[in-house]
Amino acid sequence: MMRRTLRRPAELAEAGLVPAARLPELAAVAGRFALAITPEMAELIDPGDERDPIARQFVPDARELETTAEEQADPIGDERLSPLPGIVHRYPDRVLLKPSHVCPVYCRFCFRREQVGPGGKTLSAAELAAALAYIAARPEIWEVIVTGGDPLLLSPRRIGELIKALDAIPHVGVIRIHTRVPVVSPRRVSAALVAALAAEKAVYVVIHANHPRELTPAMRAACTRLGRAGIPLLSQSVLLRGINDDAATLAALLRGLVAMRIKPYYLHHGDLAPGTAPFRTTIGEGQALMRALRGRLSGLCQPLYVLDIPGGHGKVPIGPGYAAATAAGDKWLVEDPDGVRHPYPPHDP
Ligand code: SF4
Repeated sequence: MMRRTLRRPAELAEAGLVPAARLPELAAVAGRFALAITPEMAELIDPGDERDPIARQFVPDARELETTAEEQADPIGDERLSPLPGIVHRYPDRVLLKPSHVCPVYCRFCFRREQVGPGGKTLSAAELAAALAYIAARPEIWEVIVTGGDPLLLSPRRIGELIKALDAIPHVGVIRIHTRVPVVSPRRVSAALVAALAAEKAVYVVIHANHPRELTPAMRAACTRLGRAGIPLLSQSVLLRGINDDAATLAALLRGLVAMRIKPYYLHHGDLAPGTAPFRTTIGEGQALMRALRGRLSGLCQPLYVLDIPGGHGKVPIGPGYAAATAAGDKWLVEDPDGVRHPYPPHDP
């Protein structure tokens, strides 16, 4: 088993993931957007399959250099809502805390692709102290979402110190960690890392996974280690054209997650990040997929289909609606999973 993360185009060719003829293309893209593929993900790739769903997520493609008119460097408006380094304060009761901008892999569709990378900024000790002071000074902040980059790339010592500092702020009720580590680098979920997440407050771990092939035995073992420590696990996935935009693949992913004791939380509509148009579906396609899953898949497996409104206006559900009042207002029409509409009284008798 190869044990190192591939970070240069030549290493991808040496590993047999791409033909040497593609090296100029990969070099051009990697000069613009960061590249990293962990050994665990490299081993899942079938180099003979041009449409391999794992390769498409991590192997650079020349189309990433084509930016459409509606794409933006900061598609969800993090910068505008950042009062100081490392903090994004979009909603009154919660903040994002971004201690670093480094990831174990670099997803080709990443919504923060202009910020993340090996040269990305990690908060200095003084900046982290200022970010924690910002949270401590605002009693309305109930939830802290630790994201980045990937916070679980921090050493157990550093993540432990961060969790302790947040745990000590009386008004913080929930610490939520967003990570791809249990999927793409499950061996990093060590006993020391799990111990570092221990807190009096509720610590949730939200795992980013997009395709059922990512749900490996090693990932399951990592999630078991987290789950046995009493950490609730949620997932978030991105709806990706040609990767998981069919009902059978999504169903296998969502069932696989639930079978690993991970509750599907969000299915994100693709953000308008530069060079990511080939990955985006239409909202109509996303809604049709959610309809296809409704009634055919346990409610436990149903994520919320959401869109981050460009410009930083917040995240909203954009799934299909199942109830509508008639124009006369004399009744509701409620749609069942087969698309048949049924009347329902406008108010309780
Ligand atoms: S792990 Fe998350 S933040 Fe990092 S590149 Fe992938 S989508 Fe972006």
